Amino acid sequence: MKVQFYGAARRVTGSKHLLTTNKGTKILLDCGLFQGIGTTELNSSFGFNPKEVDFVILSHAHIDHTGLLPKLVKDGFNGTVYCTHATKSLCEIMLMDSARIQESDVKRINKRRSKRGDELLEPLYQETDAQKAIDLMDTKGYHTKFEIEEGVNFSFYETGHILGSAGIYVEFQENNITKSLFFTGDIGRPNDKILREPEAFPQADFIISESTYGDKLHPPEADIRAHLLEVVKTTCVEKKGRLIIPAFSVDRTQELIYALDVLESEGKLPRIPVYIDSPLSVKATLVMRKHEEEFNPEILDYIKRDGDAFGFENLNYITKVDDSKAINSSKEPCIIISSSGMAEAGRIKHHIKNNCENANNTILIVGYCSPSSLGYQIKIKAPELRIFGDTFKLNANVEVMDSFSAHADYAEMISYLSCQDTSQVKKLFLVHGEIDRQTAFKARLEKVGFSNIEIPQHKESFTI
Ligand SMILES: [Zn+2]
Repeated sequence: MKVQFYGAARRVTGSKHLLTTNKGTKILLDCGLFQGIGTTELNSSFGFNPKEVDFVILSHAHIDHTGLLPKLVKDGFNGTVYCTHATKSLCEIMLMDSARIQESDVKRINKRRSKRGDELLEPLYQETDAQKAIDLMDTKGYHTKFEIEEGVNFSFYETGHILGSAGIYVEFQENNITKSLFFTGDIGRPNDKILREPEAFPQADFIISESTYGDKLHPPEADIRAHLLEVVKTTCVEKKGRLIIPAFSVDRTQELIYALDVLESEGKLPRIPVYIDSPLSVKATLVMRKHEEEFNPEILDYIKRDGDAFGFENLNYITKVDDSKAINSSKEPCIIISSSGMAEAGRIKHHIKNNCENANNTILIVGYCSPSSLGYQIKIKAPELRIFGDTFKLNANVEVMDSFSAHADYAEMISYLSCQDTSQVKKLFLVHGEIDRQTAFKARLEKVGFSNIEIPQHKESFTI
């Protein structure tokens, strides 16, 4: 078998690893979009022929792991895409959303290009391509071996990273010897508020592991609910202001809703309206509700007692644009949770624009913000913000909660990999990380007994 790394090699995004069996069958693990500045070229061509790929197996629904699937289909892939049930449900909303973003981005760029008389660009893919990709999906539960061709089978193991996330265990027979490879996908954290913790996986001969936080330890777990309640009370009760929270639609938004739901059921939450103002977040919450099979015992127990972890009296889900605008015309104290998480796009930009100059308001940052994003400018408390071409003063209070992270830190990743007998692992590949973090992680893994650790370069290939 050959393994070749076509994405997330010495970088975090674009996850794509191509396995080629001795018979020539091609299995693509993930089909992620490269994200960030300077990735247009990387997204425009795969580096392999999509028509020759026989199967795709997805680790989870995040766009940096699935976002090029519609382009793969557009460029000729017509095989089966295997994923967990919840991953398909999330892809149904996230890939369609990604297609709409591709289309509207290109429309905006083309407006400028046509004024200059430049050649017009085409979107990477459209909604029809995303729908075709979804139609090719075949879902499988965890732990069940599924044979994709004679001598090659795979099974999923929970990684607790987002709803539906899985590590992929592939067994293949070559020259009458059975070998195994495990791809971690993204590794979640123990003590997730909604999902079960990452689970042990069977002994593997080869491992492809993520390494996002290869040199980082998360701060000790803070009491999220207590911190949130304190911010709500100070902002909305004492100062009669508004609390604005940019949050990723999937997972982060539901974690916040669940935290508020618990506070409300304990009678601690002040009686103020809470708005979830993002069509994608509303849809993602519906998907979450549908997949209780992924929930940990604590939240299931809570649902049994409370009836619903994502719904309480003052909680309002907003989808229509007019309703979103109406929130802005009223000045009542309230909590607004909206996407995108880095405040780069979506309705959150309007809410920040309308509320950032009032010192009674608070903007609460709960997730990672890349340095080029509006969210980052807020996080570092820049005195002025550029939004929709205008400048606004940042007078609102800024709070940061770092305790939310869907990625394991290095100690948690090492603990996750400790289910393996290191002497039996013939090679371990590190992907999904920046090179300095990967180098640090490699040294830590060697200390606990792993050897033959490779940090593959883009398009580098290995025979295993
Ligand atoms: Zn992920």
